[in-house]
Amino acid sequence: MELRVLGCSGGIASGQATTAFLVDHTLLVDAGTGVGSLQPHEMSKIDSILLTHSHLDHISHLPFLLNTLIGLGHPTIEVYALRETLEALQDHIFNNIIWPDFTQLPSKAAPSVRLNTIEIGQTITVGDKQVVVLPAFHSVPAVGYWVGNEQAAFAFSGDCSQNDVFWEALNNLPPVDMLIVDNQYTDEEKGISALAKHYYPASLAEDLRKLTYYPPVYISHLPTVNTDAVITEINCDLASWSPKVLMTGHRYQLAAKVDQPDSETVAQPL
Ligand SMILES: [Zn+2]
Ligand SMILES: [Zn+2]
Repeated sequence: MELRVLGCSGGIASGQATTAFLVDHTLLVDAGTGVGSLQPHEMSKIDSILLTHSHLDHISHLPFLLNTLIGLGHPTIEVYALRETLEALQDHIFNNIIWPDFTQLPSKAAPSVRLNTIEIGQTITVGDKQVVVLPAFHSVPAVGYWVGNEQAAFAFSGDCSQNDVFWEALNNLPPVDMLIVDNQYTDEEKGISALAKHYYPASLAEDLRKLTYYPPVYISHLPTVNTDAVITEINCDLASWSPKVLMTGHRYQLAAKVDQPDSETVAQPL
């Protein structure tokens, strides 16, 4: 399984983009500004999109993506998200004011996009992958995802802050070969972190201890300013997990871990 990081930053800056992961060329997880790095022929391979929540940094480029695909005569894209997320998209984006209603275009029978409601705990099949919808705890209704096939599995917290349920859900699923978790703030910023409902390093370390195993941990959603300070704290607070920073533009090849206690992380950037 290949996970290509189109964007994984908490904001935009030159060389950085917001959350969008392309899995095996066809499945997009979130549709932030990172989608803008794809060429049209790469966009045309996408058939399904999982959205974690309605915040702009995770959906901003869905309208542009659909606009390109409609011009290519692409079949209907299946978007999966919570009811609240889909309602936000319909009410505030595809409302014929901000953007045309691509759920009805080019025709009601064969629209550019179909909005599919999913629920926490549900398992859906997308291509050759099983996708489990994980509970997340953020400032708007949000989910994470466990995505796996016969080769490998990864999980993504989406935007999240301290909770038990995400970690309990992960413990009840097959172990992942890559765990992507968000961290937007420093420990000192725990006040704003509590308001924005994002992890800071100490809170993330506390929650990682709830896992019953040690997956390879990758950090996403770092801020575009003060980045080094956050990374320094992460490396200190999360030392037991040897965390790595997820890198925009990298492709990670995921494969099931060979049963060797000393084997290195299996997620390798190319
Ligand atoms: Zn968010
Ligand atoms: Zn975000």
